[in-house]
Amino acid sequence: MKQVRILDKDFELFIDADTIQASIKGIAADINRDLEGEKPIFIAILNGSFMFAGDLMKHVTIPCEITFVRIASYRGMKSTEDVKEILGLREDIKDRTVVILEDIVDTGFTLEMLLNQFKEYEPKKIKVATLLFKPKALKRDVKPDYVALDIPNDFIVGYGLDYDGYGRNLEDIYKIKQ
Ligand code: 5GP
Ligand code: MG
Repeated sequence: MKQVRILDKDFELFIDADTIQASIKGIAADINRDLEGEKPIFIAILNGSFMFAGDLMKHVTIPCEITFVRIASYRGMKSTEDVKEILGLREDIKDRTVVILEDIVDTGFTLEMLLNQFKEYEPKKIKVATLLFKPKALKRDVKPDYVALDIPNDFIVGYGLDYDGYGRNLEDIYKIKQ
């Protein structure tokens, strides 16, 4: 079994590159079918979604735009008081069909915040595509529209996702070794 060591932790192969690519092609086909004629603007959330966005977009064949934003976090006294803000959106998304591209939806707090903030720009509609979804970890009333892969509640790295900044460059996805 393929293994990698990142900083102080060992990870084992969980989802290989071919499986990732096949799942991404599947949701690209769904998006092409559902959003035909909508001229959507894809908004990828950096850093985690950079590989997913790159590979997904190769299979999106409808007319569309893509842009990239990041999330800035400002620490509150409690983690529930953390203020998160979207940085870098230059495009006007009013009356546009927006597709948010996320690396992973875990508790759903991040996605809920993103949806609330993007809604303030009055888009026509917002769809969410995520590479990974941990359905058992979900705590908020949000649901991604397009999920490449459902996974259990393990901590994973690779294919854009990091452990303390490292591991984003791996072409496969690894899970932490217990
Ligand atoms: P949520 O707000 O849905 O709980 O989590 C969103 C963020 O937590 C993701 O965008 C990602 O940065 C991080 N995250 C959640 N689960 C994992 C995981 O298994 N591995 C890594 N590397 N990051 C994760
Ligand atoms: Mg993220």
